Amino acid sequence: MSKQVTILGATGSIGLSTLDVISRHPGQFELFAVTGNTNVAGMLEICQTYQPKVAVMANADAAKLLQQQIEKNGIATEVTAGVDSLVDVASHSSVDIVMAAIVGGAGLLPTIAAANAGKRICLANKEALVMSGDLFLDAVSNNGATLLPVDSEHNAIFQSMPPEVQQGATLSTSGVRKILLTGSGGPFLTKPLEEFGEITPAMAVAHPNWDMGAKISVDSATMMNKGLEFIEARLLFNASFEQMEVIIHPQSIIHSMVSYNDGSVLAQMGQPDMRTPIAHTLSYPARIESGVEPLDFSQLADFTFVKPDFNRFPNLALALEASKSGQGATTALNASNEVAVEAFLQGEIRFIDIAQLNERVLNAHVNSKPNSLSDILELDAQARQFAKQVITQGI
Ligand code: NAD
Ligand code: MG
Repeated sequence: MSKQVTILGATGSIGLSTLDVISRHPGQFELFAVTGNTNVAGMLEICQTYQPKVAVMANADAAKLLQQQIEKNGIATEVTAGVDSLVDVASHSSVDIVMAAIVGGAGLLPTIAAANAGKRICLANKEALVMSGDLFLDAVSNNGATLLPVDSEHNAIFQSMPPEVQQGATLSTSGVRKILLTGSGGPFLTKPLEEFGEITPAMAVAHPNWDMGAKISVDSATMMNKGLEFIEARLLFNASFEQMEVIIHPQSIIHSMVSYNDGSVLAQMGQPDMRTPIAHTLSYPARIESGVEPLDFSQLADFTFVKPDFNRFPNLALALEASKSGQGATTALNASNEVAVEAFLQGEIRFIDIAQLNERVLNAHVNSKPNSLSDILELDAQARQFAKQVITQGI
């Protein structure tokens, strides 16, 4: 029988890639629900092409506009709106698989709902995990849910792990020495530091290897993305700080590696195309066609690796510090960074202000100890408010 899929964040980069993979396997996957923010035109196109049962918009106004278009075009999709509807389609009894591809903290509640309902969660929305940590992982394990990482590095690490670690065994008892988390270094890996003050949003969102949404593109440019991924990897694989290493690999052909006690290093490689990890998580443990061309090694010119430069990328250093400090620090840092990136994209702060702002918010909340979902949401709101206040007062 075909699997029923809900895509949270269907109108985004990961969402559209997921639709592309699913459409290649009509007998295997069926679209139950798609969700978007306020992009009515994008959602209408998805509904026309894929005929999901339900389409969820972020608010009533957007839903009303979509509803009018749905009726006009004679589409059978039911339109709903709001967070409760996101939670409903993520936890609905008909649903087998939830692709969590909303960007930022807005994805937390539906993704946790999918965990509580015991779904297979294909997790792209790294902020949800960074923000809620063990609370989210406990919801997964206590309710028989399955968590599979879509983030290309974590998907690569997962694929390079022994089967018992994929099922939850610890690294040290499975012969794993280290996780080698690779990153491209983004568009400013070699840009002279004295020019960082003039970096514009357009420059920051133009990633050399990956085509992604605006927020993660800026995060890649500041390397906060690698920092969030460091925190994400520690949580997903129950890794100590010392069991992690970040290494820059500008070509993004290796998507991360696992180093073993016997000297072996296993890597997952492929084109920088998210349809590969998406297909892997949708059909795991089976392998399905994703539309991605295989690598042609004879065409690869360079294959290089360097250590990250923390002076150039202070956000990476902050994230590692937060990872050491604990959940309060990572929740606050994620919240601050979301506010900072949005302010940068709106032209309110400079590129180099992002790290300054994040440092202030992190220092102010580093000792917070959230113990419940409501603690997390409260700390997230506080940190956002503090970040906005700092922006208003001047960084
Ligand atoms: P995107 O900006 O292209 O899409 C984001 C999606 O979230 C859209 O569908 C949007 O409508 C929805 N959304 C945004 N705000 C919302 C809100 N307040 N309420 C409800 N829905 C909302 O982003 P993306 O690049 O697809 O990234 C999605 C997630 O996947 C992010 O967490 C990102 O870090 C992660 N990720 C993306 C890539 C990539 O290649 N794009 C790779 C790895 C991880
Ligand atoms: Mg990634």
